[in-house]
Amino acid sequence: MKTAIITGITGQDGAYLSTLLLKNDYKVIGLVRNDQPNLTGLDYLKIKEHVEIVKCNLLDIEQTETVLKKYSPDEIYNLAAQSSVSISFEQPIATFQFNTLSVFNLLESIKTINRSIRFYQASSSEMCGKVNQLPITEDSVLHPLSPYATSKVAAHFTCTNYRESYGMYIACGILFNHESYLRSNGFFVKKVIRESIQLHLGNKTHLEVGNIDIKRDFGYSPLYVEAMYKMLQQETPADYLVCSGESISLRKIIYYVFSVLGISNDKCVVNPKLYRPNEIENIYGDNAKAKRELDWKYDYNFYQVLDLLIAEEQANLNK
Ligand code: NAP
Repeated sequence: MKTAIITGITGQDGAYLSTLLLKNDYKVIGLVRNDQPNLTGLDYLKIKEHVEIVKCNLLDIEQTETVLKKYSPDEIYNLAAQSSVSISFEQPIATFQFNTLSVFNLLESIKTINRSIRFYQASSSEMCGKVNQLPITEDSVLHPLSPYATSKVAAHFTCTNYRESYGMYIACGILFNHESYLRSNGFFVKKVIRESIQLHLGNKTHLEVGNIDIKRDFGYSPLYVEAMYKMLQQETPADYLVCSGESISLRKIIYYVFSVLGISNDKCVVNPKLYRPNEIENIYGDNAKAKRELDWKYDYNFYQVLDLLIAEEQANLNK
């Protein structure tokens, strides 16, 4: 039986990835930062009892080393991060500090304790930022446009540096936006669906949004975590883009959700105060490498994902 450590186990991807690894007979150790972690995602997926939860401050290298020594993992999936672009503008230093130092501590610990541990880093399409060519590929120039993105670029290059300098097995998944019922409430698609349902029920008067003329490439988290797993099963570690391959404007997402729920488009109110200091206009990626080398399968379109998310949100409305 293989052992995997997942950091960020309380997040959306941590929950779906745990489910996948448990199905593949892994022992799953989930790292959390405090004594009362929010395990609702694991509970929702009915796997809470099957994951061993361990407290570890990833900013403390001694604690990180102790965990690695105790559990001797075969694989580490590093998903923990301050993951919100908006929050990163409000808390740039804390975002940069955690998202980079935690990676250094994990990689240094692996380097010292056991270099055969395989490491997955959650990199992000946000790293590409000011896009100079579409679609984005694994070779695109990185030009981050937010503190979150700069932190992910620093972590990403730290990973490639350790891979090239010490021959360590490190794969970076450059994932584009991906959604699920377990997405935190502050993120755009989740927020639109939740608030639109409240509008539909008559509990709200309108949906207030920022710049909705930007375009994004988004997909379905339970299928994106399969690519993470497959990355660590390859003979040679590499970086892969994981995306749907197309983009859609946020306006179209809102109008589609409104149409499914029978809401008139004039209930969407744009508030320029919600615009971010800087914004990627349009971004979509090329998933050919992941499909070819990982045999990763993904053929959902945006509307199928939205249908799934709306249905699951409605089914859980009173829970
Ligand atoms: P998420 O739901 O926001 O989960 C983030 C996880 O990181 C949570 O478990 C959270 O723990 C932990 N975390 C946050 N700040 C921390 C801190 N200061 N110390 C320790 N733990 C901390 O994120 P996700 O959507 O599952 O994404 C997983 C990873 O993929 C993240 O690294 C994210 O940046 C990256 N990514 C996500 C997307 C996407 O669209 N979802 C796209 C590209 C890359 P608490 O419960 O304690 O807060």
